Amino acid sequence: MFTSKEEFIMEFSKRIISTYGRCVSQSHVTEQFMVLESMVRDYASVNWATTKADIIKYNKKQMYYFSLEFLMGRMLVNNLMNLGIYDVAKIGLSELGINIHELEELETDAGLGNGGLGRLAACFMDSLASLSYPGNGNTIRYEYGLFKQKIEDGYQIEVPDQWLKLGNGWEVRKPKHTVDVKFWGTVQYNSETQKYEHKGAECVSAVPYDVPIVGMDTTVTNTLRLWHAQPSDNIPSNKDFRQYNQEVRDICQTLYPDDSTISGKTLRLKQQYFLVAAGLQAIIKYHLSLYPSLDNFHEKTVIQLNDTHPVLCIPELMRLLIDEHDYEWDQAWFIVSHTFAYTNHTVLVEALERWPITLMQALLPRVYMIIDEIHHRFHDEVIKRTGDKEKADRLGILKDGYCDMAHLAVVGSFSVNGVAYLHTQILKNDVMRELSDYFPGKFNNKTNGITHRRWLLYANPQLSDLIKQQIGDSWIEQPLLLSRLLDYSLDPKLQEQFIAVKKERKQRLADYILKNNHIQVDIDSIFNIQVKRFHAYKRQLLSVLGIIYQYYEIKNNPDYQMYPQTFIFGGKAAPGYYFAKTVIKLINSVAKVVNEDEDVSKYMKVIFIENYGVTLAELIIPAADVSLQISTAGKEASGTGNMKFMMNGAITLGTMDGANVEIVQQVAKENCEIFGLTTAEIEDLKPNYRVWDYYHNDPKIKRVIDSLVDGSWDNNREQFRVIFEELMNRNDEYFVLADLDAYLKALNRIEKRYQDQAEWAKACLINIAKSGYFSSDRTIKEYVDDIWHIEKI
Ligand SMILES: *Cc1c(COP(=O)(O)O)cnc(C)c1O
Repeated sequence: MFTSKEEFIMEFSKRIISTYGRCVSQSHVTEQFMVLESMVRDYASVNWATTKADIIKYNKKQMYYFSLEFLMGRMLVNNLMNLGIYDVAKIGLSELGINIHELEELETDAGLGNGGLGRLAACFMDSLASLSYPGNGNTIRYEYGLFKQKIEDGYQIEVPDQWLKLGNGWEVRKPKHTVDVKFWGTVQYNSETQKYEHKGAECVSAVPYDVPIVGMDTTVTNTLRLWHAQPSDNIPSNKDFRQYNQEVRDICQTLYPDDSTISGKTLRLKQQYFLVAAGLQAIIKYHLSLYPSLDNFHEKTVIQLNDTHPVLCIPELMRLLIDEHDYEWDQAWFIVSHTFAYTNHTVLVEALERWPITLMQALLPRVYMIIDEIHHRFHDEVIKRTGDKEKADRLGILKDGYCDMAHLAVVGSFSVNGVAYLHTQILKNDVMRELSDYFPGKFNNKTNGITHRRWLLYANPQLSDLIKQQIGDSWIEQPLLLSRLLDYSLDPKLQEQFIAVKKERKQRLADYILKNNHIQVDIDSIFNIQVKRFHAYKRQLLSVLGIIYQYYEIKNNPDYQMYPQTFIFGGKAAPGYYFAKTVIKLINSVAKVVNEDEDVSKYMKVIFIENYGVTLAELIIPAADVSLQISTAGKEASGTGNMKFMMNGAITLGTMDGANVEIVQQVAKENCEIFGLTTAEIEDLKPNYRVWDYYHNDPKIKRVIDSLVDGSWDNNREQFRVIFEELMNRNDEYFVLADLDAYLKALNRIEKRYQDQAEWAKACLINIAKSGYFSSDRTIKEYVDDIWHIEKI
């Protein structure tokens, strides 16, 4: 392709002319961006072809990651860097009078995910390729990704995310791999062939769009396959075509912006089956192009199910094997139950997926029959083995008119994993205790990770350069070697340089805030940052109540002194999640009062950054002094934001929840600021928890709570009523008031610690040094060794 800047310039100029019919100097920046993108994709294509050929040549087993979400973010810089051609492109463009950074800013985020679960899938893709493993993604090509968030008058407004407006230069449409997916209709038994036949179904065609995933310093290039729905040639003759057309379009229209509860019913289930049916057909076709039968399918294929969303894979592969490839039940079940592994992402009861049986029966009649059979066979087996019918009912897949997708996942997979030590313990010992006991050895832990390439090397080149200057660059290939920084955490020169880098990154964020929020923030203040989806269990409310508390401390005490702090929030709330949206409004209302109050704003500013997403995370996280990870203990499965902050040298102000527990284990308690009730303490407190006691026993807390409904933050006293109700009249399900005092004390300790800059820098350096464990390279190696058993290409 191009190895020198001269070749780059020639190729770039040639493409501008051949694509747009004008020369570089007259071309538009979006044209320049799209040509650059196409050049990088074509550059990657060379290795893409070799990778595919090598997998065939060496009969490699492959892993497929099925996920309804991939939160990829931008890909240009990542791909240029991973391919090692960033500098050539940058210099070449600059000689043509083009600033590469301007082109970078034109790329829209691929926001095909909600939050942590989708971003995990994206980090895994990067690690798989960079470690040279054959691992591919399968998802839906949503026309609109997660909505764009605007803040108007303090309220969240949702705007469609038109991420495909300029087209998607990374994808390649593969019409010849189109497959049909069947919905509705009825099932009939054909006694001649002794097979079930699906009659009167509505077919939808699934067309794959493939995106190359390039690793760093490797020729391995994997595939992220995005499935797009289009009208099929086989539509029932009695169907109105316009209506059919609309229904087909709806399938890939939008990502469900619902972070952790199930909704949307029929369409959501349609999406899930669409992905599963299309993805599996393609994998089977591929397998049969290489091997004589599907007998060895599970030896050449392993499929990781990211949460329960793609769990219909289990009955669908049974259906394909039995109805279309003539397998008997037992042999089909052997193959299926050796193919799938399931990752559990939540223990929140309202998030565990359960589908109404009536809906499944109508939409997916044959698949439902198979689920029913899986259920009955399992139910019988439990009774046979334990003699306990009630136990069999509890463990079963179908109950009370619903299909429990988590149970289907556990029964049909050979591995079930949680995503952090504590979360897996809760799964095994509490939420899924009986299933875990029934299947000894099936449950295991894989603590999440993040790709240090995107989240440290590319997002924070200033810090990366400092680390390289101190300990060299071997940590890029082996992130655990970041621990070499430990030898220098006491080095005053490194400490000072770290503080300077942090300041530079705080300045960049401050510039962004000035431009977008029109508020000047002090870069010498402590940047306390809480960015993540808005959810009651994540307790953004706890930080707001903390701010309100401090506000009254300052107002009521003329001599009050505190070290200046800036509280920065970001995150989206699901459009139908009224409570979470009200918390966003409260933050913005409190921010307005605080920032405009002369007494208070010299100590404290509150900022809400709108439209949090991957690209903004790359700007915000490197600027943090303090990482707020304050979920109710036992509720956050892992968290990955916590890891990104740590890797960028922020101190975790957090509860003993999710992967915070392992962060503390890595860096030792004195290099974090841990507070609040533990999981066990919450369980103990739960039966006797009386939120009004906290209100009555402390006038300052009473003042804070009363302010929610006395017009302090909004002329409309009803504005924040729902928050008051959740706390005081629904007994504060997430123990916000129980932890408020401990949280305030922890903030105070942070304030003191920060003023000793050398000690502070030392703790930050220790955090960076110990963050290598949280590279997704480590996570992927554990999946490979314990679950996937795939080999490097
Ligand atoms: C990492 C990340 C998340 C996950 O954050 P948590 O704090 O773990 O919930 C969500 N959204 C984006 C854009 C991210 O980059």
